[in-house]
Amino acid sequence: MSAEVENVIIIGTGCSGLTAAIYTARANLNPLVLEGTLPGGQLTQTSEVENFPGFPEGIDGFMLMDNLRKQATRFGTRFGQATIDDVDFSQSPYTLKAGDKEYKAKSVIISTGASPRLLGVPGEKEMFGGKGVTTCATCDGAFYRNMDVVVVGGGDTACEEALFLTRFASKVYLIHRRDELRASKLMAERTLAHEKIEMVWDTVVDEVVADEQGFATAVKVTNRKSGESSSIDAKGIFIAIGHIPNTGPFAKELETDDEGYFKPKLGSQVQTNIPGVYVSGDCADHVYRQAITAAGMGCQAAIEAERWLAEQ
Ligand code: NAP
Repeated sequence: MSAEVENVIIIGTGCSGLTAAIYTARANLNPLVLEGTLPGGQLTQTSEVENFPGFPEGIDGFMLMDNLRKQATRFGTRFGQATIDDVDFSQSPYTLKAGDKEYKAKSVIISTGASPRLLGVPGEKEMFGGKGVTTCATCDGAFYRNMDVVVVGGGDTACEEALFLTRFASKVYLIHRRDELRASKLMAERTLAHEKIEMVWDTVVDEVVADEQGFATAVKVTNRKSGESSSIDAKGIFIAIGHIPNTGPFAKELETDDEGYFKPKLGSQVQTNIPGVYVSGDCADHVYRQAITAAGMGCQAAIEAERWLAEQ
């Protein structure tokens, strides 16, 4: 039996996908949203969100995503569970495959996000999201006022996070596995010159240590050159070693950049080389990576899809 042809299928239920759902549902497009392995996206992994406009007291990340989902449902969005592993955009309607199951749609919005790369050391997962380990200084930095924190990484993100954290933290240890930063010259110079930032060169993190309540208190580290092990006390551990965009199954049909992020058509943030196929949120944005910017891209993609469908 051939699959029913949907007006629009949205892949992903993070901020971007759900915003696209709200807009397309309100435009009477009866969207189908496909939910993968992390319903609600990255925000469900964090505790308090204080920078999403409209919540003067902040809002729990999980609750924010639940609200977005209810809002999308209210206008008739339908949800399905599927991890898309293959696509065929060579002819319309477009085909999306999840194992044996096939979906057909006139228009597709891909909002699959990016997963922060993690260290894979003991304690990291246990304390992730609310207990001291995080991947977002903009989201969580303000919780570490007058405390010592650690940033891991040596790229632009690690430097940016470290510099941002100097506004709150009493001291920022920047742990890098080599003796030279990968970050751009200006960013590296600013970082190295900051009085609150102490570089910990040639060093890898072996473990995140918890107190009795399960909150991070320190990291155990080893210097790769001397082989010496030691411990650095810190309440906040910010991992900034890059992201992995979730673009794999689409990359054979859609343009991606050197790092695997979707590369939208020139002059647009969300249009792709395939008419009627749009990208939005962190899978297409390695610069801003904020909930509000992802939501904004979801809105753009929805409006583009609506216009494109109206033209057909
Ligand atoms: P990145 O440039 O890939 O840097 C990742 C850093 O993490 C590198 O220093 C790397 O070490 C380290 N690393 C990777 N895996 C590790 C592991 N398992 N253990 C320990 N360290 C590890 O990633 P990014 O900093 O997120 O930047 C991504 C892109 O966005 C870059 O093109 C960057 O320029 C851009 N960006 C720009 C801005 C800006 O212009 N304001 C801000 C943020 C990001 P090695 O150096 O040894 O490989």
